[in-house]
Amino acid sequence: MPKKLIVQKFGGSSVANVDRIQKVAQRVVSYKKKGFNLVVVVSALGDTTDELIELANKINSSPSEREMDMLLSTGEQISVALLAMAIHKLGVEAISFTGAQVGIITDTAHTKARIIKINAEKIQEALKRDKVVIVAGFQGISLNQDITTLGRGGSDLTAVALAKELKAYECEIYTDVKGIYTTDPRIEPKAKKITKITYDEMLEMASLGAQVMQVRSIEVAKKFNVPIHVRSSFKKDPGTMIIKEVKNMEEVVVSAITLNKAGAKITVCNVFDRPGIAARIFNELADKGISVDMIVQNVSHLRQTDISFTVNKPEAHKAIKIINKLKKQVGIKDVLQDSDIARISIVGVGMKSHPGVAGKMFEVLAKARINIEMISTSDISISCIVQKKLAEKAVRALHNKFGLAK
Ligand code: ADP
Ligand code: ASP
Ligand code: MG
Repeated sequence: MPKKLIVQKFGGSSVANVDRIQKVAQRVVSYKKKGFNLVVVVSALGDTTDELIELANKINSSPSEREMDMLLSTGEQISVALLAMAIHKLGVEAISFTGAQVGIITDTAHTKARIIKINAEKIQEALKRDKVVIVAGFQGISLNQDITTLGRGGSDLTAVALAKELKAYECEIYTDVKGIYTTDPRIEPKAKKITKITYDEMLEMASLGAQVMQVRSIEVAKKFNVPIHVRSSFKKDPGTMIIKEVKNMEEVVVSAITLNKAGAKITVCNVFDRPGIAARIFNELADKGISVDMIVQNVSHLRQTDISFTVNKPEAHKAIKIINKLKKQVGIKDVLQDSDIARISIVGVGMKSHPGVAGKMFEVLAKARINIEMISTSDISISCIVQKKLAEKAVRALHNKFGLAK
């Protein structure tokens, strides 16, 4: 019988130092000895990617995206080579590859490239020779032969895409927590580990700020039905399975609380309340590559209104500049920015069929004397923008009220 293939991905904190790299090597070798074929995807050591970004910004405050990819991809190249050496030391054959070497072909959208296809022959060949194959996460090569990266947290995507391509039995994501929790366990120690969660809920959680899995990796897993097992690099216990369906899932109304501090709120004040104004503002932002998240338009007074929206913090400055340029043409009185905001969300498939969830959420926030600045909803989530300094208190209060605490 052919050996079962597992794709294992180790995040930055799992390979942060020599000791941890050796521990990862031991785990990989123990699976190899159990008789599995292994493809191992690795992130850059510890905070290397952040450090490289900081370094680039010291040299040029708006570095070319092509050169940024060239720079950031080096982080993962270091970790794959070191892990291969650590596995060799344990007497097992292993070989490391960059994304380009294993044929991860992407489009040309530097810093957020999409995978177009994977030419996996090189991996297949190495597996046939019974080697552990180690692949640099987060990177590929574009149709123009340039090195690209897949967006922050992109090693998750490398792992899921390889698991799909190689028809792996499972994709294991090893990280510094024991699985997916009802909220970030660093914010709420009473958070509970979830045994099974659906792609849809995980996708919603990831989009709303639970950084434990990259959003696009879950999109791909959902599309191709790749089972994911998120678990700890440091402990043996099973973690969380991310799968298509979970029995009785609609009985749980709210399954998780998320927090996202990465946004900034922009308010365009006193614009005319007439057709075409919002289109003009948001088309201009989109043309300049700025994605907008929540949008709220207030009731108009004297045919004038305020429009507030959120963008990723690093893009706020650019967005304000664009709107300032539109001021005269569109008739905007003022533009305000608030970077001290956070988005808190409640997520759950069961919300679809249970009324009263929004009211309960707002009541919890009111009791904690937390003001809601913006609200938005989806089929399976409700989000509120609140002041950043109150956000963690809000998460804990909601986690408790919706019965998620241990
Ligand atoms: P890695 O380096 O392994 O990719 P990340 O830092 O990207 O790890 O993701 C793991 C972190 O995600 C955890 O340390 C945890 O603080 C955070 N996190 C946020 N929300 C959750 C959640 N609901 N469940 C588990 N972890 C979460
Ligand atoms: N090293 C990259 C990052 O920090 C990719 C990853 O860790 O998944 O975003
Ligand atoms: Mg990650």
